[in-house]
Amino acid sequence: MNVNPQHGHREPDRTAQSRTAHDRTAQSRPAHDRPAQSRPAHDHRKLGRELDLFDTDPLMGSGLPYWLPDGAAVRHTLEKFIRGRERRAGYRHVYSPVLGKRELYEISGHWAHYREDMFPPMALGSEEVVLRPSLCPHHALIFRSRSHSYRELPLRMAELGGMYRSEPSGVLGGLTRVRAIQLNDAHVFCTPEQAADEAVAALELIREAHAALGIVPVRYRLSLPGAGGKYVADPALWERATALLSDVLERSGVPFEAAEGEAAFYGPKIDVQIADGAGREFTLSTVQVDFHQPERFDLHYIGPDGARHRPVMVHRSVIGSVERVVAHLIELYGGAFPAWLAPVQVVLLPVSDAELPQAERLRQRCLDLGLRAEVAGPERGTLGARIREARLVPYQAVIGAREAVDDRVALRLRNGRRLEPLPAEEAWARIGALVAGCGSELWEDGAAG
Ligand SMILES: [Zn+2]
Repeated sequence: MNVNPQHGHREPDRTAQSRTAHDRTAQSRPAHDRPAQSRPAHDHRKLGRELDLFDTDPLMGSGLPYWLPDGAAVRHTLEKFIRGRERRAGYRHVYSPVLGKRELYEISGHWAHYREDMFPPMALGSEEVVLRPSLCPHHALIFRSRSHSYRELPLRMAELGGMYRSEPSGVLGGLTRVRAIQLNDAHVFCTPEQAADEAVAALELIREAHAALGIVPVRYRLSLPGAGGKYVADPALWERATALLSDVLERSGVPFEAAEGEAAFYGPKIDVQIADGAGREFTLSTVQVDFHQPERFDLHYIGPDGARHRPVMVHRSVIGSVERVVAHLIELYGGAFPAWLAPVQVVLLPVSDAELPQAERLRQRCLDLGLRAEVAGPERGTLGARIREARLVPYQAVIGAREAVDDRVALRLRNGRRLEPLPAEEAWARIGALVAGCGSELWEDGAAG
């Protein structure tokens, strides 16, 4: 809803944007794995509780959800996925603390322009520390802590880290409106000449990640400042950054709309908008070009001329916050995640107690191979009942007396397809390959299939 996972600000009016969003969300479901009946709009809050993905407790507080093991498995997989994509794109990861001294945010400009969204400072001896409202100031300090030559640029610094927003309690709910946010964030420190290429590359990374996750944006938005004093005043820098981002969108060939009043306080941004099942629009991914914070933090690099030069910061988030993207994926797939994201990938179904030891042995083998597997034994009901209970699990491996002797499994796919019994090792190898490729297909019919 209003939480912008990157460098947030309020999105005051969604109603005008909600007309087409629902249809497009429905279209984005992968056709091959869609049940015969069309699904109703899913509510991630309801599904999250039903599927034991996440929950909240009044004693932890509103807007502070916790992740149950199945939700945590989805989250771990997503985090691993995005870090891998980032490494391949030349990013290196850091960790930085979620607290910082108040002075840090005075320098960054958050204190002047964004304080109403921040938690109140905590007194710590003679100092005041604040839960951070964004990761940028920490990354600027990390860049500043070492001297950098132009040869090191673009320097791409990524972190999947925590940030906090003091949302009013009345608006909190599920994973989309939270007070503690885990953001897939990065800052590229580069020369002014490199900034456009870096922003184009970030947009490309966003498009690839969305395609792998099955996410279809409803639109791209060039978010510009509006009236009022929440933006830093430097018209020349705004103009320069806006021209650069317009150029980036043109070069990327994506249609976009400009929207006033949606910029970050320090600069314009490209927002990649998605919609939930009810048609409400959210910002998921962002790309921003920032000339302001490098000035405020007096960042520099040593140019070929031996002199100090000011870098540009490109802020970008590929999948936004893990809260928001998981909420979206829950609704998009109705809990039937692609195999690589599924909390449980393989359920082992011994027909009778006699096959239970073999099921346990195969489960351990799956775990050793990095697959998430569980056994649903006869104590949980008839085979039919257990298959129905495991209907969201992509691979259901039935083990009868003959399979147990032969070390084979009879696979049932989530889409209803049944495969001939095949050697267990071959089944795990083929599932493992599909999972490793982050594909959306449940099975590929090869020579042996
Ligand atoms: Zn940033």
